[in-house]
Amino acid sequence: MEFSKKARELIREQIGEWDLAAKNYGSLKNVKIKTFDYGDYHIDIQFNPERIVSSAAKVDTKSIEARPCFLCEKNRPSQQRSLSFNSEYVVLVNPFPIFPEHLTIPNISHTDQRIIGNFGSMLDLAASLDDFVIFYNGPKCGASAPDHLHFQAGIKGFLSIEVDFLNNKCCREVRRIGNITIFHWPNYQRGTISLNGKNKVDLIECFNRVYRKLQILQPDEVEPMLNILAIFEHGEWIIHIFPRTLHRPAQYFESGEKQLILSPASVDMGGVLITPREEDFIKISKEDVQDIFKQVCLEPQAVIKLINQL
Ligand SMILES: [Zn+2]
Repeated sequence: MEFSKKARELIREQIGEWDLAAKNYGSLKNVKIKTFDYGDYHIDIQFNPERIVSSAAKVDTKSIEARPCFLCEKNRPSQQRSLSFNSEYVVLVNPFPIFPEHLTIPNISHTDQRIIGNFGSMLDLAASLDDFVIFYNGPKCGASAPDHLHFQAGIKGFLSIEVDFLNNKCCREVRRIGNITIFHWPNYQRGTISLNGKNKVDLIECFNRVYRKLQILQPDEVEPMLNILAIFEHGEWIIHIFPRTLHRPAQYFESGEKQLILSPASVDMGGVLITPREEDFIKISKEDVQDIFKQVCLEPQAVIKLINQL
C-alpha cells in the first residue's frame, strides 16, 4: 500500500536528518542476536542497549504524572516529523528501534492506553501499513506511555511468530465464529489466541468476546493484561493475542547474579526477547526463557479453556 511506502520513506529521511535516529538505527546494525531452538520453533535473544529506556521505564502513576509525555506533540523533539493517519493518529519514527524499521503511532490526543474501542483502528493501521506488524502493549504490559494511547509497528520478517503461524507446526485451528477462524498454540510456552479473517466487523466482535472473558479473570485491572500483534496479509488479518498475568518476571527485581533485566512486551511475545544489558544477554538460558514466559503469560491450557467458552 501507498501509505506503507510513505512510512518507510519517512524512516529513511529521518535517519538522514535527525541525529538521534541516525545514531540509534546505526547502532542497530551491531546488536547481538542469539537463538534458542525449541524444536518446532525458536526464540531469538537481542542484546540492545538503547532499549534500557523502555525496559527499565518507571510506569507507576507518580512517575508518569511527573514527566512530560513524550508522545504529545508539544513535547516531541523538533526533528521528529509525522504522517497523519485517519486524522486520529500520527505515524512517527521510533528513535529507540528494535526493528530495522520501527514506528510509534500515537493518538493525537493525550488519552489513556486502552484497546477497547480502538481495536478497529489497529486493524485499519495493519491494512494500511501492510509492510509492518502492528503491535499494542497494554498499560501494564510494556507500554512506556500508559497515559497516551499508541500503537507501534515493526517491519515484517523479524518476529519468528510470523513464520510459526504460516508453517502451522505450532498452532492449530480450534474454532470458527462467524467468518473468523481461531487458533490455539498448545506448546508455545506463552498462551496465545490467534484470530484470522477478512471481515473487520466480525474480527472486532470476536476480539471483544475474548476481551470480556479476560476481564472476568482480572476484574480489578483497568483492562485485562495483554499484548496484541496485528498483521495484514493477502487481504486477511492475522491477530495474535497474548493474555498476561504479570508485567515483569521475578528475575527483573533480583540483584546481582540472579538479576535479568527483561521486561516482556509484544516483541518478546512475538519471539524476540530484548535484553538491554550485555551480561543478561550472555547468561540468559533456554530454561530462563521458559521460566519467564511461565510467569508472565497465561498458560496454554487456560487459554484453550477460554477459547472454548467464547
Ligand atoms: Zn501525551
